[in-house]
Amino acid sequence: MLNGKTALVTGSTSGIGLGIALSLARQGANVVLNGFGDAEEPQALVREAGAAHGIRVGYHGADMSQPAQIAEMMAQIDRDFGGCDILVNNAGIQHVAPLDEFPIERWDAIIAINLSSAFHTMRLALPGMKQRGWGRVVNIASVHGLVASTNKSAYVAAKHGLVGLTKTVALETATTPVTVNAICPGWVLTPLVQKQVDARALADGVDGDEAKRRLLAEKQPSLQFTTPEQLGELTVFLCSEAAANVRGQSWALDGGWTAQ
Ligand code: NAD
Repeated sequence: MLNGKTALVTGSTSGIGLGIALSLARQGANVVLNGFGDAEEPQALVREAGAAHGIRVGYHGADMSQPAQIAEMMAQIDRDFGGCDILVNNAGIQHVAPLDEFPIERWDAIIAINLSSAFHTMRLALPGMKQRGWGRVVNIASVHGLVASTNKSAYVAAKHGLVGLTKTVALETATTPVTVNAICPGWVLTPLVQKQVDARALADGVDGDEAKRRLLAEKQPSLQFTTPEQLGELTVFLCSEAAANVRGQSWALDGGWTAQ
């Protein structure tokens, strides 16, 4: 039960972030959403998920590539909720191209959103967590924080960086009641991956279902997508007392991808 705790889930207007926000709300946590696009429907879904606990739901539209906007969001959470107890660094983007054709602007954006944003949220959230005597940081990395794939140089670099950052901050907080861990999903069928399914369908001249089967068959031995619900429940576990001494781990939920 996470009653009375406040969670910030970055990039939670869709996909994995929204799945995690819903799981935390079901456990009674207040949830602050962040991300682009329509924020009304995700807020309504999260409010409904936590209705039995009477949770409070907030939203801040900070662009996670902008440190000043991140600072504004963290200050608003301090003002409106008394601080961030559960920090889920989930916002992320992808761009697929070989290194020598990789647009510089995409490289900079991926490093800023997928890696540096977690530095900024953590540096601002950790003092309050330590002061209040409880905190959980869950960084949504990727299998690409553990292994590489072609044409994803910025993403792989950022996610490996996030795994390293997770370990460092876990060591720096090891004697405190704040834990810091990462989750490393394999393929999850979200808008981010749907783009890659569509590109594969076009390149191979096959339909969407066949493109999904081919993507999975290449990397994910279970041949099943990991779901936002499974990632949400793993996040809830990392927030539990049972996980109080899980520190600096990068937990793969990848259908066997990284076991190969
Ligand atoms: P998604 O595209 O469905 O959601 C991304 C979210 O981030 C959206 O809410 C979007 O609005 C938000 N966002 C994007 N840029 C932002 C910015 N500059 N500032 C604030 N918010 C921003 O993607 P997803 O698949 O749910 O991915 C979520 C996380 O999970 C990412 O970090 C991604 O790298 C990681 N991940 C995804 C998969 C997968 O297969 N889908 C696998 C491993 C890891």
